[in-house]
Amino acid sequence: MTTTAAPGSSTSATPSPSQGGAAAASAHTSGQPRSSGQPRTSGQPRSPKYPTLLSPIQVGKRQLRNRVIMGSMHTGLEDDPADAPKLAAFCKRRAQGGVAAIVTGGFPPTMEGNLTPFGHPFTDEETVAAHRQVTDATHEGGALAILQLLHSGRYGYHPMAVSASDTQSPISPFPAREMTVEEIEATIAAYAQSAVNAREAGYDGVQVMGSEGYLINQFLAERVNQRTDEWGGSVDNRQRFPVEVVKAIRAAVPEDFIVDYRISVLDLVEGGQTQEEILQLAEKLEAAGADMLSSGIGWHEAKIPTIVTSVPRAAFSWATAALRERVSIPVVVSNRINTPEVAESLLDGSWAPAGGFAHDDANTERLPGTPQGDLVSMARPLLADPDFVRRAEADEANLLNICIACNQACLDHTFDNQRASCLVNPRACYETELELLPATDVKRVGVIGGGVAGLFAAEALAQRGHAVEVFEAADKVGGQFRLAMMIPGKEEFVSSLVGVQARLDKLGVKIHTDSPRNAQELLESGFDEVVVASGVTPRIPDFPGVREGLAGEIDGVEVMTYAELVSGVKRAGRSVAVVGAGGIGFDVAEYLQDYRDGKPQELKSWNEQWGVTTDPAARAGLTTAHPHRGQREVFMVQRKITPMGKTLNRTTGWVHRATVAMGGAELIVGAGYEGVDSEGLHITVPATDPKAINKAMKDAKNIRNKEERKEALAQIERDMAENRVQRTLGVDTVVLCTGQESVRPDEISPDAAEALRPRVHVVGGADVAAELDAKRAIRQAVEVAAQI
Ligand code: NAP
Ligand code: SF4
Repeated sequence: MTTTAAPGSSTSATPSPSQGGAAAASAHTSGQPRSSGQPRTSGQPRSPKYPTLLSPIQVGKRQLRNRVIMGSMHTGLEDDPADAPKLAAFCKRRAQGGVAAIVTGGFPPTMEGNLTPFGHPFTDEETVAAHRQVTDATHEGGALAILQLLHSGRYGYHPMAVSASDTQSPISPFPAREMTVEEIEATIAAYAQSAVNAREAGYDGVQVMGSEGYLINQFLAERVNQRTDEWGGSVDNRQRFPVEVVKAIRAAVPEDFIVDYRISVLDLVEGGQTQEEILQLAEKLEAAGADMLSSGIGWHEAKIPTIVTSVPRAAFSWATAALRERVSIPVVVSNRINTPEVAESLLDGSWAPAGGFAHDDANTERLPGTPQGDLVSMARPLLADPDFVRRAEADEANLLNICIACNQACLDHTFDNQRASCLVNPRACYETELELLPATDVKRVGVIGGGVAGLFAAEALAQRGHAVEVFEAADKVGGQFRLAMMIPGKEEFVSSLVGVQARLDKLGVKIHTDSPRNAQELLESGFDEVVVASGVTPRIPDFPGVREGLAGEIDGVEVMTYAELVSGVKRAGRSVAVVGAGGIGFDVAEYLQDYRDGKPQELKSWNEQWGVTTDPAARAGLTTAHPHRGQREVFMVQRKITPMGKTLNRTTGWVHRATVAMGGAELIVGAGYEGVDSEGLHITVPATDPKAINKAMKDAKNIRNKEERKEALAQIERDMAENRVQRTLGVDTVVLCTGQESVRPDEISPDAAEALRPRVHVVGGADVAAELDAKRAIRQAVEVAAQI
């Protein structure tokens, strides 16, 4: 494995301009579109398997040690300068893992540009001083440090928000005020000053955030920019703001300071830019002094998913490929890239989406087969596995802790104002707090249960030096994850299981399947400590006919748990009632509506489903959507009167709700279960429209007087209970998705349990089944493992 000293140090593999870096930069003539077809290389590759990905590349006057950039992520450690040591540790770990450059979370150039009222603009002295820790730590790890400058515009979650025009985004409660010409000029100057400050803080460059619907993107699109002065009204005028920002920064910083611009290569919103407008902008940005163009996909308010698991890998790389043909500076491809194989194929020209595109126009015929970019940007995959590049260099991609694009511990946290972390790596952003120190007292530890909690506990224990064995009652490990990976769009979850098993193998952890054990047995057979991670089992609701249906005793109607359905033990018929509409209910509805026979969705089909087109003539990459309807009739039923899917995860729930709606499922809320028999599922539902009931409840909750409020809510409940109508869903299958209960190994006597307690640690669903998810299970497992 090649090691690289800190950039700028005398032993660095990265030549500074004075060491000849500038001369090495002239791999192409600036301002000339490149000839397509060949990846541009400047230096020797380091891995026979990923030669392009791991070869150095010149960006402006600097050389990057490979083509992997850690993309910008708001981790929640940015806002308070007191968190700088934690942010530094986070960045250092990723730099040590081999990435070439790290882009920070977004920092606003002005107060108005803050995302929240509590952020600090990069003109704040204390903030700038604190960042020295971050840049030093990144350099110690051998990577370049790039600060992202992000002005939120109308996405500012505060009353100071400003934008190109008076406007309000559909995802913010705060209207934004139109900027005056003086404010525009002052903001451009503030960008330049922030870049100067970034350099003083030790950064090697800045990334100007021009995508995802933030201020600069707002100036670029008619959707928001309604101005008639020199900052709007024509494409040239709308493009003036980003071009002036880049010019101002370039003029304020030395030549060897990287100016990266994150360009929206696809807006994916009505009134967004055309491809030609974007390509013209790219040419102007290059001429204005940008050293690199990073790709951004989709505004935050877009109704098309861009990063969740169900989005096919590298789904939008064709848009970056088009950009690459028009400029000569390096371009960075991003979105749904999470393996070195995909990354290498995007850069070496061998990438092509399975099934082709939705439109056979000249553009898409030409673009596959050429490199889609010069570098890749990955963000979440580096949360999941800081050693992504090191593993690629060592040809150990099989050991990757792969990002499954679930958003559960990263983006969901960010949107809830919590610190980001990672479902499969709870140490992410907690590097200084959740440490896996070498064990001082090496022990034999038995882990009961081979679901993700057990497997990740075993890995953490073994990393600390303990001798670990896993005992799984079933014939395969994986538990609930093994079910999740059967859900359409979640097929990649299997990579997580494969990876952790490979790492356990390397660590020498023995896995015993078909081996039910309890803690007492393991302790008596010589283990010093036991981790019980025996997981959960589906909860069986108690209404008439359920037990009989499960036993196959009802003519023409079968009842099954979600586990029986998804594992293939039982098969659903043509008409299905899904009972319970939590995360698993939605997963099951998508499973039932699927038409792909377990195969991942091809890009062409996905584009058609969501209405995305590669046709350059289309504005913002949008076209008419053609949702796929499943073959089955599906009813989703829940007892709560609230709109269905409220409990789904913050940033992915809307995708599941939209997918199920596209599939044509009927959603029934406020149901009472009367029973299952050969006619189907009998329920009662409120006589009044649930929307009216929810509105009445909302009004009642706003009543100021506590007693009156209580009485109004009680009256609504009484009305709902009394005014109900019977309904029979004439289904042939009822699937129970009604939550879970803990599974514990065979009971041992309470006295024995008490005596064993100090040496037995119960984690995950075995500990608490309610609202269990893999995030909580894995975090608890690793925390316990860190203490043994
Ligand atoms: P869940 O979210 O608790 O949903 C189960 C639903 O079943 C409840 O919301 C409840 O709704 C209903 N239910 C519970 N007990 C019942 C009973 N005795 N009779 C009839 N209905 C009953 O649990 P889950 O769907 O099993 O999901 C488990 C965990 O996995 C959750 O924490 C979830 O976050 C996570 N997960 C998330 C996703 C995702 O967001 N995409 C996907 C999979 C799993 P009513 O009372 O209203 O009927
Ligand atoms: Fe990836 Fe999920 Fe981890 Fe986020 S929480 S980094 S999406 S695996």
